[in-house]
Amino acid sequence: MERPPEMGGLWKRVVVIGGGVAGSLIAKSLQFHADVTLIDPKEYFEIPWASLRAMVEPSFAERSVIYHKDYLTNGRLVMSKAINISKSEVLTAEGRMVAYDYLVIATGHNDSFPKTRTERLKEYRAENKKIKAASSVLIVGGGPTGVELAAEIAVDHPDKRVVLVHDGSRLLEFIGPKAAGKTLEWLKSKNVEVKLRQSVDLNNSLEGSTTYVTSTGEIIIADCLFVCTGKPLASAWLKETMLKNSFDDFGRLKVDENLRVKGYKNIFAIGDIADVKEIKQGYLAQKHALIAAKNLKLMMSGGKESKMATLKPHSMKVIVSLGRYDAVAQFPLTTIIGLVPGLIKSKDLFVGKVRKQLGLDPRLVNS
Ligand SMILES: Cc1cc2nc3c(=O)[nH]c(=O)nc-3n(C[C@H](O)[C@H](O)[C@H](O)COP(=O)(O)OP(=O)(O)OC[C@H]3O[C@@H](n4cnc5c(N)ncnc54)[C@H](O)[C@@H]3O)c2cc1C
Repeated sequence: MERPPEMGGLWKRVVVIGGGVAGSLIAKSLQFHADVTLIDPKEYFEIPWASLRAMVEPSFAERSVIYHKDYLTNGRLVMSKAINISKSEVLTAEGRMVAYDYLVIATGHNDSFPKTRTERLKEYRAENKKIKAASSVLIVGGGPTGVELAAEIAVDHPDKRVVLVHDGSRLLEFIGPKAAGKTLEWLKSKNVEVKLRQSVDLNNSLEGSTTYVTSTGEIIIADCLFVCTGKPLASAWLKETMLKNSFDDFGRLKVDENLRVKGYKNIFAIGDIADVKEIKQGYLAQKHALIAAKNLKLMMSGGKESKMATLKPHSMKVIVSLGRYDAVAQFPLTTIIGLVPGLIKSKDLFVGKVRKQLGLDPRLVNS
């Protein structure tokens, strides 16, 4: 690992746990300023909001599923889950102890994706085959994942019957009712059948069966099922560690305005796992990564704590893509749907932008 001569004794060990949106960016940002180790169970970072497009267009994942080694050229990857931490070390599931001077926790949400990029791309091809072969698709869950998937399928395969079942009283409950109402109308205009206030008992559906029964007794026949009910935060493992008293009621780590876990001078928590009072969005996770990177550089160079960057509250800005051309956007003063927000997000889904931020070619795959 390249160490600039001027760093001398200041070359500190920074361990980043979680190679998602926030973890990948902070690891990349610090790799020439510290001895960086990234701990992540996979050999790749994946842009989460590009995953629904990749299901209807598997080649899209060639750019959105990125080897850690492509952007982490001056750091090391430990491909495992972190299972415990002490004041100076992280223990991984494989039994490795990784020593740190500074720790960054960025474990966001649990996922169960394959370890290798090749396997992940294969999964997308298999899902795409499943969609193409189906004449009817059932999607359970009307949050951003379910809505974006329903829209992708409805736009690319208008011939297929798409049914979206959601147990809440409206779609996209994390944003305002106006955006939710407009989204519902948009989906209906694309012939997606939306069933609100209903759930599907997936435990009692027979393996291989194409018949599903909702909580109101409605029968839905679907060749293909996608469960999009949201993933839990990946913080359970921390509850048996020295940070067990650092959680809020939602399982998030309590942080100060500099993004350090409260009570710890050398442990940061960033991204969805931090208890910052804001909606959980990738662009905010990226902001956390850049602020924490700045603070770590300051601390490692012996700068004054009073000079540390602080997190400023952000006004709410959410764009949910609706297929390749349209989107629904909620900005502080207005909610819009259609081609205009679609132009901002839906064509490339910010994939080029994220790649560029990681120092990669926005268009080409380097691997
Ligand atoms: C369908 C969908 C659409 C979205 N659309 C948008 C959008 O348009 N715009 C936007 O800004 N945001 C969007 N988001 C939200 C955004 O993806 C999240 O806010 C962001 O991913 C949070 O980043 P993170 O780094 O905190 O966590 P994640 O990106 O979830 O990364 C966590 C990483 O930690 C790893 N990990 C977990 N446990 C451990 C462990 N014990 N040890 C080591 N590693 C571990 C995981 O494997 C993963 O790599 C969307 C999310 C989804 C699911």
